[in-house]
Amino acid sequence: MATTSVRALYIHVPFCSSRCLYCDFDSRACRDAARFDAYVAHMVACINRLREAGVLDACRTAYIGGGTPSVLGAGLVSLVESVRRAAPCIEEFSCEANPESFTSDLALALRTAGATRVSLGVQSFDNGELHALGRLHDAERARCAVRAAQEAGLDVSIDLMCGIPLQTQESWNATLGAALALGVKHVSVYPLAIEEGTPLARKVARGAIPEPDEDVQAWCMETARCRLRDAGLVPYEVASYAAPGHACRHNIAYWTGVSYLGLGRSAASMLDRESYDALARVLGLPAVPDDGAARLRFVQTTDELPGTGQPRYELEALSEREAVAEDLMLGMRMSRGVGEDLLAQARTIVGAGQVDRAVDEALSRGLARWVEAESERRLAPTHDGWLLGNELYGLMWDLGAC
Ligand code: SF4
Repeated sequence: MATTSVRALYIHVPFCSSRCLYCDFDSRACRDAARFDAYVAHMVACINRLREAGVLDACRTAYIGGGTPSVLGAGLVSLVESVRRAAPCIEEFSCEANPESFTSDLALALRTAGATRVSLGVQSFDNGELHALGRLHDAERARCAVRAAQEAGLDVSIDLMCGIPLQTQESWNATLGAALALGVKHVSVYPLAIEEGTPLARKVARGAIPEPDEDVQAWCMETARCRLRDAGLVPYEVASYAAPGHACRHNIAYWTGVSYLGLGRSAASMLDRESYDALARVLGLPAVPDDGAARLRFVQTTDELPGTGQPRYELEALSEREAVAEDLMLGMRMSRGVGEDLLAQARTIVGAGQVDRAVDEALSRGLARWVEAESERRLAPTHDGWLLGNELYGLMWDLGAC
């Protein structure tokens, strides 16, 4: 058996019904059922190999994302079932879905198969804004999808986007109001980014639509923070709000240095050295010289569809020092910040002087503060640290450099 420290599993589904105008994620427009079946069969075979090796025995969370996993329909249910068989200790199981391909039947089948949570790509409850983004659903379809998930007993998260062309203060407030009226317990809020090479970037370039205004986006983020918090959805991470007990444990794993495994093209993994070596034998990962790396991060860069050969990976080795700096940086994304234990570990590895200088600078610039939480003193981001996140993360990240 290959004992590993993997506690979180991600599976990437690289298909969408069509491409949204702003999207640069790794997905392709596809409605070919045979292609979906082949992908699911291949993933199930991969998961079964992991099951036989016992790699996922201690895994606690799973997340099937994309792309649009709900386009797989029954194939998505098969994926959930196979992960459940391979990872008996899973406590939270999320699937991403888009409203146009998320039905009551699918919601019930996913719940029965063992999913606990669905993350719906709603983006807006304004039909004009949805059209401007190239989304396939309208506001009513989004409402139906949320209700279908709730009625099936799934915990529901929705994604919302601000800075959309045509969006006004009034329509943003209406979108937030619609989300709250549905009683969702988790909301993620993102500013629209104009990514190079997308149809939206071309529209901006030829002046057909204005570039998103950063001040407007900041106002939208601030408004969301106030309204969601007033409704009992607490900001627990830069972009995520949740009612007590409804934070996404899988996402928290990414920000707290927990080992995670990603399957599928563009899926990222992060493992300690020992777990990497154990998994390399099961998945055919490239061998890595024993040069003292504490942590290995890798991203699959090629397709894993049948007939495309052995997948290739981009691999990055992190020293102990880089790993602890990364943990501090990611920890500061979260409202609860980082605890004394992680700071003490950083002082041992990096040196107390450097760590304390970085902490002092974060405090003096008003980016962080000490709070009493979880029965200990923690270093947590302030409101300014939330707004100027890159400055705060930079201070921590720089500790990784010799
Ligand atoms: S549904 Fe999501 S992944 Fe698919 S094209 Fe739209 S934004 Fe991209």
